[in-house]
Amino acid sequence: QRTDYIKFCENIIDRFEMTKRQNIQFIRKFPRGRFYVLIDRDKLTQVIDNIISNAIKYSPEGGIITFQVFMKKNRIRTMISDQGVGIPKENLSKVFDRFYRVDRARSRKLGGTGLGLAIAKEMIEAQGGEIWAESEWNQGTAIHFILPLDQGKGGAGRNDARSI
Ligand code: ATP
Ligand code: MG
Repeated sequence: QRTDYIKFCENIIDRFEMTKRQNIQFIRKFPRGRFYVLIDRDKLTQVIDNIISNAIKYSPEGGIITFQVFMKKNRIRTMISDQGVGIPKENLSKVFDRFYRVDRARSRKLGGTGLGLAIAKEMIEAQGGEIWAESEWNQGTAIHFILPLDQGKGGAGRNDARSI
């Protein structure tokens, strides 16, 4: 489905802001203009829901979650970062494995199956993208993913004032 990506992200964050129980603040940093991606909206919603849920799960009271979108030529990069417990360097690549969870005791308490990021990786790669994690232990975590822009008619990649 051809999707206005920023609007799509805004809707997801709005939903989290309306239902959140913890004292967590969302910051949005979006580029101006309209950018279209060709995605399966249900699947990408599931991916972003899991990344934000993880960020909330591992954040302290009063933590800030930043949702930022960057444009780069014909690709769009999304970064969702938190100020939570972080992931030790040696475990970073494993969080995308099925059923992998960093700290069993901690994770059991917080619930989940360890499938969220494995599914995210499958879905992002199926849409021609990439996903990776960056983290500092006790500082926070950032999940990045890249999706190809839908070049659409005219092939300019972006679809703002010029396409009217
Ligand atoms: P599920 O998503 O299936 O409910 P889960 O959240 O434990 O379970 P994933 O989303 O795949 O599984 O995440 C895998 C593991 O990576 C988590 O158990 C956690 O240890 C670690 N992790 C993921 N996101 C973060 C984060 N933002 N901060 C700290 N650790 C994280
Ligand atoms: Mg999860």
